[in-house]
Amino acid sequence: MALIVQKYGGTSVANPERIKNLASRVARYKALGHQVVVVVSAMSGETNRLIALAKEIMPDPDPRELDVMVSTGEQVTIGLTSMALMDLGIKAKSYTGSQVRIVTDSAHTKARILNIDDAKIRADLDAGYVVVVAGFQGVDEHGNITTLGRGGSDTTGVALAAALKADECQIYTDVDGVYTTDPRIVPEARRLKSITFEEMLELASQGSKVLQIRSVEFAGKYQVKLRVLSSFEEEGDGTLITFEEENNMEQPIISGIAFNRDEAKVTVLGVPDRPGIAYQILGPIADANIDVDIIIQNTGADGTTDFTFTVHKNELNKALDILKNKVQGHIGAREISGDDKIAKVSIVGVGMRSHVGVASQMFRTLAEEGINIQMISTSEIKIAVVIEEKYMELAVRVLHKAFELEEA
Ligand code: ASP
Ligand code: MG
Repeated sequence: MALIVQKYGGTSVANPERIKNLASRVARYKALGHQVVVVVSAMSGETNRLIALAKEIMPDPDPRELDVMVSTGEQVTIGLTSMALMDLGIKAKSYTGSQVRIVTDSAHTKARILNIDDAKIRADLDAGYVVVVAGFQGVDEHGNITTLGRGGSDTTGVALAAALKADECQIYTDVDGVYTTDPRIVPEARRLKSITFEEMLELASQGSKVLQIRSVEFAGKYQVKLRVLSSFEEEGDGTLITFEEENNMEQPIISGIAFNRDEAKVTVLGVPDRPGIAYQILGPIADANIDVDIIIQNTGADGTTDFTFTVHKNELNKALDILKNKVQGHIGAREISGDDKIAKVSIVGVGMRSHVGVASQMFRTLAEEGINIQMISTSEIKIAVVIEEKYMELAVRVLHKAFELEEA
Protein backbone atom coordinates (compact mmCIF):
# COMPACT_ATOMS: atom_id res chain seq x y z
CA MET A 1 0.00 0.00 0.00
CA ALA A 2 1.29 3.38 -0.95
CA LEU A 3 0.26 6.93 -0.13
CA ILE A 4 -0.18 8.86 -3.36
CA VAL A 5 -0.95 12.51 -3.91
CA GLN A 6 -2.62 13.15 -7.27
CA LYS A 7 -2.89 16.71 -8.51
CA TYR A 8 -5.29 17.45 -11.36
CA GLY A 9 -5.01 20.65 -13.41
CA GLY A 10 -7.79 22.81 -14.79
CA THR A 11 -8.31 20.84 -17.99
CA SER A 12 -8.71 17.64 -15.95
CA VAL A 13 -11.67 19.14 -14.06
CA ALA A 14 -13.02 21.28 -16.90
CA ASN A 15 -16.50 19.70 -16.87
CA PRO A 16 -18.56 17.04 -15.04
CA GLU A 17 -17.55 14.31 -17.46
CA ARG A 18 -13.85 14.89 -16.83
CA ILE A 19 -14.40 15.06 -13.10
CA LYS A 20 -16.14 11.68 -13.30
CA ASN A 21 -13.21 10.40 -15.28
CA LEU A 22 -10.82 11.63 -12.61
CA ALA A 23 -12.94 9.89 -9.96
CA SER A 24 -12.71 6.57 -11.83
CA ARG A 25 -8.95 6.86 -11.91
CA VAL A 26 -8.84 7.53 -8.18
CA ALA A 27 -11.17 4.57 -7.69
CA ARG A 28 -8.70 2.31 -9.51
CA TYR A 29 -5.88 3.42 -7.20
CA LYS A 30 -8.12 2.88 -4.18
CA ALA A 31 -9.01 -0.59 -5.41
CA LEU A 32 -5.30 -1.45 -5.47
CA GLY A 33 -5.21 -0.64 -1.77
CA HIS A 34 -3.51 2.76 -1.97
CA GLN A 35 -4.32 5.80 0.10
CA VAL A 36 -5.05 8.76 -2.15
CA VAL A 37 -5.05 12.50 -1.58
CA VAL A 38 -6.42 14.48 -4.52
CA VAL A 39 -5.51 18.12 -5.15
CA VAL A 40 -7.51 19.99 -7.77
CA SER A 41 -7.23 23.26 -9.66
CA ALA A 42 -10.20 25.35 -10.65
CA MET A 43 -12.00 24.45 -13.89
CA SER A 44 -9.87 25.66 -16.79
CA GLY A 45 -10.49 29.32 -17.55
CA GLU A 46 -12.21 29.90 -14.22
CA THR A 47 -9.35 31.67 -12.46
CA ASN A 48 -8.92 34.00 -15.45
CA ARG A 49 -12.66 34.67 -15.42
CA LEU A 50 -12.61 35.53 -11.72
CA ILE A 51 -9.63 37.86 -12.08
CA ALA A 52 -11.29 39.64 -15.01
CA LEU A 53 -14.45 40.02 -12.96
CA ALA A 54 -12.51 41.61 -10.12
CA LYS A 55 -10.85 44.03 -12.53
CA GLU A 56 -14.24 45.18 -13.77
CA ILE A 57 -15.01 46.34 -10.25
CA MET A 58 -11.55 47.59 -9.29
CA PRO A 59 -8.90 47.99 -12.02
CA ASP A 60 -6.09 47.19 -9.62
CA PRO A 61 -7.88 44.78 -7.27
CA ASP A 62 -7.13 44.80 -3.57
CA PRO A 63 -4.92 41.71 -3.07
CA ARG A 64 -6.68 40.42 0.04
CA GLU A 65 -10.11 40.64 -1.55
CA LEU A 66 -8.81 39.21 -4.81
CA ASP A 67 -7.60 36.12 -2.93
CA VAL A 68 -10.97 35.77 -1.22
CA MET A 69 -12.80 35.56 -4.53
CA VAL A 70 -10.20 33.95 -6.80
CA SER A 71 -9.80 31.02 -4.39
CA THR A 72 -13.46 30.07 -4.93
CA GLY A 73 -12.67 28.35 -8.23
CA GLU A 74 -10.97 25.52 -6.34
CA GLN A 75 -13.73 25.37 -3.73
CA VAL A 76 -16.16 24.44 -6.49
CA THR A 77 -13.99 21.65 -7.88
CA ILE A 78 -13.19 20.01 -4.52
CA GLY A 79 -16.90 19.69 -3.78
CA LEU A 80 -17.66 18.30 -7.22
CA THR A 81 -14.72 15.89 -7.06
CA SER A 82 -15.82 14.52 -3.69
CA MET A 83 -19.34 14.05 -5.01
CA ALA A 84 -18.04 12.21 -8.07
CA LEU A 85 -16.11 9.85 -5.79
CA MET A 86 -19.11 9.31 -3.52
CA ASP A 87 -21.19 8.54 -6.56
CA LEU A 88 -18.81 5.65 -7.22
CA GLY A 89 -19.29 4.43 -3.68
CA ILE A 90 -15.99 5.80 -2.40
CA LYS A 91 -15.77 7.61 0.93
CA ALA A 92 -14.51 11.10 0.17
CA LYS A 93 -14.14 14.39 1.98
CA SER A 94 -13.04 17.79 0.71
CA TYR A 95 -11.12 20.58 2.43
CA THR A 96 -10.25 24.13 1.45
CA GLY A 97 -6.69 25.25 2.19
CA SER A 98 -7.74 27.00 5.36
CA GLN A 99 -9.73 23.99 6.57
CA VAL A 100 -6.67 21.77 6.27
CA ARG A 101 -4.65 24.59 7.65
CA ILE A 102 -2.16 25.11 4.92
CA VAL A 103 -0.49 28.04 6.63
CA THR A 104 1.22 30.61 4.41
CA ASP A 105 2.81 33.99 4.83
CA SER A 106 0.63 37.03 4.19
CA ALA A 107 1.91 37.91 0.71
CA HIS A 108 -1.48 37.90 -1.00
CA THR A 109 -1.58 36.53 -4.58
CA LYS A 110 1.92 35.04 -4.21
CA ALA A 111 1.99 33.56 -0.72
CA ARG A 112 4.51 30.96 0.36
CA ILE A 113 3.57 27.85 2.32
CA LEU A 114 5.05 27.87 5.83
CA ASN A 115 3.44 24.86 7.40
CA ILE A 116 0.82 22.19 6.76
CA ASP A 117 -1.21 20.59 9.51
CA ASP A 118 -1.57 16.99 8.35
CA ALA A 119 -3.64 15.71 11.30
CA LYS A 120 -7.08 15.79 9.68
CA ILE A 121 -5.88 14.34 6.41
CA ARG A 122 -4.06 11.49 8.14
CA ALA A 123 -7.05 10.65 10.31
CA ASP A 124 -9.35 10.63 7.26
CA LEU A 125 -6.97 8.49 5.23
CA ASP A 126 -6.73 6.01 8.07
CA ALA A 127 -10.53 5.93 8.20
CA GLY A 128 -10.57 4.96 4.53
CA TYR A 129 -11.42 8.31 2.95
CA VAL A 130 -10.04 9.82 -0.22
CA VAL A 131 -9.18 13.37 0.83
CA VAL A 132 -9.71 16.12 -1.73
CA VAL A 133 -7.83 19.36 -1.13
CA ALA A 134 -8.20 22.71 -2.89
CA GLY A 135 -5.03 23.68 -4.72
CA PHE A 136 -3.59 27.18 -4.97
CA GLN A 137 -4.76 28.43 -1.58
CA GLY A 138 -3.88 28.70 2.07
CA VAL A 139 -4.50 30.82 5.09
CA ASP A 140 -2.16 33.19 6.91
CA GLU A 141 -1.68 33.22 10.67
CA HIS A 142 -4.39 35.87 11.01
CA GLY A 143 -6.96 33.74 9.21
CA ASN A 144 -6.83 35.62 5.88
CA ILE A 145 -7.27 33.50 2.76
CA THR A 146 -4.18 33.60 0.56
CA THR A 147 -3.28 32.24 -2.87
CA LEU A 148 0.05 30.86 -4.05
CA GLY A 149 0.48 32.49 -7.46
CA ARG A 150 -0.77 31.33 -10.85
CA GLY A 151 -0.30 27.62 -11.36
CA GLY A 152 -0.01 27.27 -7.58
CA SER A 153 -1.96 24.01 -7.33
CA ASP A 154 1.19 22.17 -8.38
CA THR A 155 2.86 23.59 -5.30
CA THR A 156 -0.06 22.55 -3.09
CA GLY A 157 0.26 19.01 -4.43
CA VAL A 158 4.00 18.78 -3.89
CA ALA A 159 3.83 20.46 -0.46
CA LEU A 160 1.15 18.04 0.69
CA ALA A 161 3.18 15.12 -0.61
CA ALA A 162 6.16 16.41 1.37
CA ALA A 163 4.13 16.96 4.55
CA LEU A 164 2.51 13.53 4.33
CA LYS A 165 5.75 11.84 3.23
CA ALA A 166 3.81 10.44 0.30
CA ASP A 167 5.37 7.74 -1.82
CA GLU A 168 4.72 9.70 -4.98
CA CYS A 169 3.21 12.96 -6.17
CA GLN A 170 1.50 12.56 -9.52
CA ILE A 171 0.76 15.70 -11.51
CA TYR A 172 -2.02 15.02 -14.04
CA THR A 173 -2.19 17.47 -16.87
CA ASP A 174 -3.17 17.78 -20.53
CA VAL A 175 0.17 16.53 -21.82
CA ASP A 176 1.49 13.06 -21.09
CA GLY A 177 4.77 14.18 -19.61
CA VAL A 178 7.67 16.56 -19.99
CA TYR A 179 8.77 16.95 -23.60
CA THR A 180 12.09 17.87 -25.14
CA THR A 181 10.30 21.05 -26.15
CA ASP A 182 6.76 22.23 -26.81
CA PRO A 183 5.26 19.83 -29.41
CA ARG A 184 3.14 22.69 -30.74
CA ILE A 185 6.35 24.21 -32.09
CA VAL A 186 8.31 21.08 -32.85
CA PRO A 187 5.98 18.19 -33.73
CA GLU A 188 8.92 15.76 -33.43
CA ALA A 189 9.40 16.66 -29.76
CA ARG A 190 9.78 13.57 -27.66
CA ARG A 191 8.48 12.71 -24.20
CA LEU A 192 11.25 12.23 -21.66
CA LYS A 193 11.01 9.11 -19.52
CA SER A 194 12.87 10.91 -16.79
CA ILE A 195 14.56 14.21 -16.17
CA THR A 196 16.66 15.34 -13.25
CA PHE A 197 15.24 17.73 -10.75
CA GLU A 198 17.93 20.32 -11.61
CA GLU A 199 17.06 20.18 -15.31
CA MET A 200 13.37 20.51 -14.54
CA LEU A 201 14.10 23.54 -12.39
CA GLU A 202 16.06 25.19 -15.19
CA LEU A 203 13.40 24.36 -17.78
CA ALA A 204 10.64 25.73 -15.54
CA SER A 205 12.56 28.92 -14.84
CA GLN A 206 13.41 29.36 -18.52
CA GLY A 207 9.81 29.26 -19.65
CA SER A 208 8.57 25.67 -19.75
CA LYS A 209 5.05 25.81 -18.37
CA VAL A 210 4.59 22.16 -17.47
CA LEU A 211 5.16 22.67 -13.75
CA GLN A 212 5.04 25.78 -11.62
CA ILE A 213 8.62 26.59 -10.68
CA ARG A 214 7.90 26.77 -6.97
CA SER A 215 6.54 23.26 -7.00
CA VAL A 216 9.82 22.06 -8.50
CA GLU A 217 11.80 23.93 -5.85
CA PHE A 218 9.64 22.33 -3.18
CA ALA A 219 10.12 18.87 -4.66
CA GLY A 220 13.87 19.41 -4.65
CA LYS A 221 14.00 20.65 -1.09
CA TYR A 222 11.94 17.78 0.30
CA GLN A 223 12.99 15.13 -2.23
CA VAL A 224 9.42 14.45 -3.30
CA LYS A 225 9.15 11.81 -6.00
CA LEU A 226 7.32 13.66 -8.73
CA ARG A 227 5.74 12.31 -11.90
CA VAL A 228 3.99 14.24 -14.68
CA LEU A 229 1.20 12.29 -16.42
CA SER A 230 -1.72 12.80 -18.77
CA SER A 231 -5.18 12.73 -17.32
CA PHE A 232 -6.56 11.80 -20.72
CA GLU A 233 -4.76 8.49 -21.07
CA GLU A 234 -5.31 5.35 -19.08
CA GLU A 235 -1.83 4.00 -19.61
CA GLY A 236 1.60 5.55 -19.65
CA ASP A 237 4.33 6.29 -17.17
CA GLY A 238 4.64 10.00 -17.91
CA THR A 239 7.90 11.64 -16.93
CA LEU A 240 9.60 10.96 -13.63
CA ILE A 241 11.60 13.76 -12.02
CA THR A 242 14.68 12.06 -10.59
CA PHE A 243 17.31 13.15 -8.13
CA GLU A 244 20.25 11.31 -9.54
CA GLU A 245 21.81 11.55 -12.92
CA GLU A 246 21.30 8.24 -14.57
CA ASN A 247 24.49 6.35 -15.21
CA ASN A 248 23.48 6.00 -18.75
CA MET A 249 26.04 6.30 -21.52
CA GLU A 250 23.23 7.05 -23.92
CA GLN A 251 22.13 10.01 -21.85
CA PRO A 252 21.81 12.90 -24.28
CA ILE A 253 23.85 16.02 -23.64
CA ILE A 254 20.79 18.22 -23.88
CA SER A 255 17.49 17.18 -22.31
CA GLY A 256 15.25 20.00 -23.37
CA ILE A 257 14.77 23.39 -24.96
CA ALA A 258 12.72 26.08 -23.26
CA PHE A 259 11.65 29.42 -24.62
CA ASN A 260 10.01 32.51 -23.36
CA ARG A 261 8.59 35.59 -25.03
CA ASP A 262 7.74 37.35 -21.80
CA GLU A 263 10.89 39.35 -21.39
CA ALA A 264 12.00 42.75 -22.65
CA LYS A 265 15.46 44.24 -22.88
CA VAL A 266 16.60 47.47 -21.28
CA THR A 267 19.86 49.09 -22.40
CA VAL A 268 21.73 51.88 -20.68
CA LEU A 269 24.28 53.29 -23.13
CA GLY A 270 27.46 55.21 -22.43
CA VAL A 271 27.76 54.75 -18.69
CA PRO A 272 30.99 55.79 -16.98
CA ASP A 273 32.98 52.71 -16.00
CA ARG A 274 33.46 53.07 -12.27
CA PRO A 275 32.60 51.18 -9.08
CA GLY A 276 28.98 51.38 -8.00
CA ILE A 277 27.41 51.91 -11.42
CA ALA A 278 25.67 48.54 -11.59
CA TYR A 279 24.23 49.18 -8.18
CA GLN A 280 23.08 52.69 -9.11
CA ILE A 281 21.25 51.25 -12.11
CA LEU A 282 19.76 48.14 -10.56
CA GLY A 283 19.17 49.43 -7.02
CA PRO A 284 16.16 51.58 -7.99
CA ILE A 285 14.87 48.74 -10.20
CA ALA A 286 14.97 46.33 -7.27
CA ASP A 287 13.39 48.93 -4.96
CA ALA A 288 10.46 49.03 -7.38
CA ASN A 289 10.13 45.24 -7.02
CA ILE A 290 11.01 44.61 -10.66
CA ASP A 291 12.59 41.20 -11.29
CA VAL A 292 15.71 41.24 -13.41
CA ASP A 293 16.81 38.18 -15.34
CA ILE A 294 19.86 38.34 -17.62
CA ILE A 295 22.40 41.12 -16.99
CA ILE A 296 25.26 42.00 -19.32
CA GLN A 297 27.92 44.61 -18.95
CA ASN A 298 31.16 45.11 -20.80
CA THR A 299 33.82 47.79 -20.78
CA GLY A 300 34.62 49.70 -23.93
CA ALA A 301 38.00 51.15 -24.84
CA ASP A 302 36.88 54.71 -24.11
CA GLY A 303 36.25 54.02 -20.44
CA THR A 304 32.50 53.90 -20.75
CA THR A 305 30.33 50.84 -20.73
CA ASP A 306 26.93 49.71 -21.99
CA PHE A 307 24.70 47.99 -19.47
CA THR A 308 21.88 45.70 -20.61
CA PHE A 309 19.38 43.63 -18.66
CA THR A 310 16.01 41.95 -19.15
CA VAL A 311 12.76 42.36 -17.21
CA HIS A 312 9.23 41.06 -17.68
CA LYS A 313 7.50 42.76 -20.62
CA ASN A 314 4.79 44.08 -18.32
CA GLU A 315 7.40 45.99 -16.34
CA LEU A 316 9.38 47.46 -19.23
CA ASN A 317 7.74 50.87 -19.12
CA LYS A 318 8.05 51.08 -15.38
CA ALA A 319 11.76 50.22 -15.61
CA LEU A 320 12.36 52.77 -18.38
CA ASP A 321 10.60 55.49 -16.39
CA ILE A 322 12.70 54.82 -13.34
CA LEU A 323 15.92 54.89 -15.33
CA LYS A 324 15.06 58.05 -17.27
CA ASN A 325 13.76 59.96 -14.29
CA LYS A 326 15.88 58.79 -11.42
CA VAL A 327 19.06 57.30 -12.82
CA GLN A 328 20.14 58.69 -16.19
CA GLY A 329 21.09 62.21 -15.11
CA HIS A 330 22.56 60.96 -11.93
CA ILE A 331 25.08 58.61 -13.51
CA GLY A 332 25.52 60.53 -16.77
CA ALA A 333 24.29 57.84 -19.14
CA ARG A 334 24.06 58.80 -22.82
CA GLU A 335 20.87 56.96 -23.64
CA ILE A 336 18.26 54.58 -22.23
CA SER A 337 16.37 52.29 -24.57
CA GLY A 338 13.93 49.40 -24.39
CA ASP A 339 13.03 46.54 -26.73
CA ASP A 340 10.17 44.12 -26.16
CA LYS A 341 10.49 42.25 -29.45
CA ILE A 342 12.86 39.72 -28.02
CA ALA A 343 12.67 36.08 -27.01
CA LYS A 344 14.85 33.86 -24.89
CA VAL A 345 15.73 30.35 -26.00
CA SER A 346 17.52 28.03 -23.59
CA ILE A 347 19.06 24.61 -23.94
CA VAL A 348 19.25 22.60 -20.72
CA GLY A 349 21.05 19.38 -19.87
CA VAL A 350 23.21 17.90 -17.13
CA GLY A 351 25.29 16.37 -19.92
CA MET A 352 26.87 19.81 -20.44
CA ARG A 353 28.95 19.20 -17.35
CA SER A 354 30.86 16.44 -19.04
CA HIS A 355 30.90 17.61 -22.65
CA VAL A 356 32.72 20.44 -24.35
CA GLY A 357 31.57 22.31 -27.41
CA VAL A 358 27.90 22.55 -26.51
CA ALA A 359 27.84 26.35 -26.62
CA SER A 360 29.74 26.48 -29.89
CA GLN A 361 27.35 23.99 -31.45
CA MET A 362 24.41 26.10 -30.33
CA PHE A 363 25.93 29.30 -31.70
CA ARG A 364 26.92 27.66 -34.98
CA THR A 365 23.41 26.34 -35.46
CA LEU A 366 21.92 29.79 -34.94
CA ALA A 367 24.55 31.44 -37.15
CA GLU A 368 23.74 29.05 -40.01
CA GLU A 369 20.19 30.38 -39.94
CA GLY A 370 21.38 33.97 -39.79
CA ILE A 371 19.92 34.46 -36.31
CA ASN A 372 21.71 37.17 -34.38
CA ILE A 373 22.39 36.56 -30.70
CA GLN A 374 21.82 39.65 -28.60
CA MET A 375 22.61 38.31 -25.15
CA ILE A 376 24.00 35.09 -23.71
CA SER A 377 23.66 33.71 -20.23
CA THR A 378 24.91 30.40 -18.92
CA SER A 379 24.81 28.17 -15.87
CA GLU A 380 26.48 24.83 -15.37
CA ILE A 381 23.63 23.04 -17.13
CA LYS A 382 22.04 25.77 -19.27
CA ILE A 383 22.84 28.10 -22.13
CA ALA A 384 20.29 30.81 -22.82
CA VAL A 385 20.33 33.28 -25.69
CA VAL A 386 18.23 36.34 -26.32
CA ILE A 387 17.28 36.78 -29.98
CA GLU A 388 14.79 38.74 -32.05
CA GLU A 389 11.31 37.45 -31.24
CA LYS A 390 10.38 36.65 -34.84
CA TYR A 391 13.14 34.01 -35.02
CA MET A 392 12.15 32.20 -31.86
CA GLU A 393 10.27 29.26 -33.35
CA LEU A 394 12.90 28.78 -36.03
CA ALA A 395 15.63 28.77 -33.39
CA VAL A 396 13.83 26.16 -31.29
CA ARG A 397 13.31 23.93 -34.34
CA VAL A 398 16.88 24.06 -35.61
CA LEU A 399 18.34 23.53 -32.15
CA HIS A 400 16.03 20.58 -31.54
CA LYS A 401 17.38 19.01 -34.71
CA ALA A 402 21.01 19.96 -34.14
CA PHE A 403 21.05 18.30 -30.73
CA GLU A 404 19.20 15.26 -32.09
CA LEU A 405 16.44 15.52 -29.55
CA GLU A 406 13.91 13.74 -31.69
CA GLU A 407 15.89 10.52 -31.47
CA ALA A 408 15.48 8.33 -28.44
N1 ASP B 1 -6.38 27.92 -10.65
C1 ASP B 1 -5.09 28.51 -10.45
C2 ASP B 1 -4.58 29.12 -11.74
O1 ASP B 1 -5.24 29.05 -12.75
C3 ASP B 1 -4.12 27.57 -9.85
C4 ASP B 1 -3.75 26.39 -10.73
O2 ASP B 1 -4.44 26.08 -11.70
O3 ASP B 1 -2.74 25.74 -10.44
O4 ASP B 1 -3.52 29.70 -11.74
MG1 MG C 1 -1.60 24.45 -14.03
